[in-house]
Amino acid sequence: MGRRAELTRLVRRSVALSGVAVLGFPGAPRAQQDQPGGWRAARDRMVEEHLRSPPRPVPPIRDTAVLRAMRRVPRHEFVPPAYREHAYANRPLPIGRGQTISQPYVVAHMTELLELEPGEKVLEVGTGSGYQAAVLAEITDSVFSVEIIEELARLARRRLRRLGYGRVRVRHGDGYRGWPEHAPFDAVVVTAAPEEIPPPLLRQLAPGGRMVLPKGPADRTQTLTVVRKRLDGTVDRREVSRVRFVPLRRDTAGARR
Ligand code: SAH
Repeated sequence: MGRRAELTRLVRRSVALSGVAVLGFPGAPRAQQDQPGGWRAARDRMVEEHLRSPPRPVPPIRDTAVLRAMRRVPRHEFVPPAYREHAYANRPLPIGRGQTISQPYVVAHMTELLELEPGEKVLEVGTGSGYQAAVLAEITDSVFSVEIIEELARLARRRLRRLGYGRVRVRHGDGYRGWPEHAPFDAVVVTAAPEEIPPPLLRQLAPGGRMVLPKGPADRTQTLTVVRKRLDGTVDRREVSRVRFVPLRRDTAGARR
């Protein structure tokens, strides 16, 4: 495909994604609790409606391991009680400290792009509520996650343990630096937006590894980018869609306070 055609495709897809999947949609989500079947049924419906058959032209999620993980992780346990009834709507929700849990489609989309296999080692930057980490933990046993806000790291660690995801390792710190003690990683997912690909994360990616990150300016939409490190160490980048994430913070001073 020529550069121009490629750009047109990207822009078309961006519009589609930003309208529906990424920037959320207006309209009141249904209350889940008074629906028959409770949380489990609400989760199955979320997977069917928003992931397997999203409104066109948003591409459906097809990876069966990802769909299975999304059916299993109780998202309502990762959002504040006030938002619980909206837990299975396709929306981002506030989790405190000015941060948000991404919408389910985006979590599934990024996880699918990681092409994670059981047994592989994955690093997440931006633990937040711990939801994305739990989804990863449904696919592989080896999940590492770094969060810069100490309180969120502590709450996520406790929540993950309570829900049976105690194997996930959560660290409080600046994820820009990765987690060198556990590198290399087969997959890296960044859930806050850096302006450029953080060099330490690229260094900590194993040959054959994949990194998925929203790259771009803090105050606008970013480009969801997939970086692949080939076996010979060279790097290949692909821009997939437009998304909106909170910025990746870059100071460790905030982490120490
Ligand atoms: N993945 C999360 C949502 C992420 S929101 C979930 O599933 O709930 C983005 C998170 O990235 C926020 O919690 C924010 O505090 C964190 N963050 C921002 N900059 C960071 C950095 N440099 N290192 C680690 N975490 C960072």
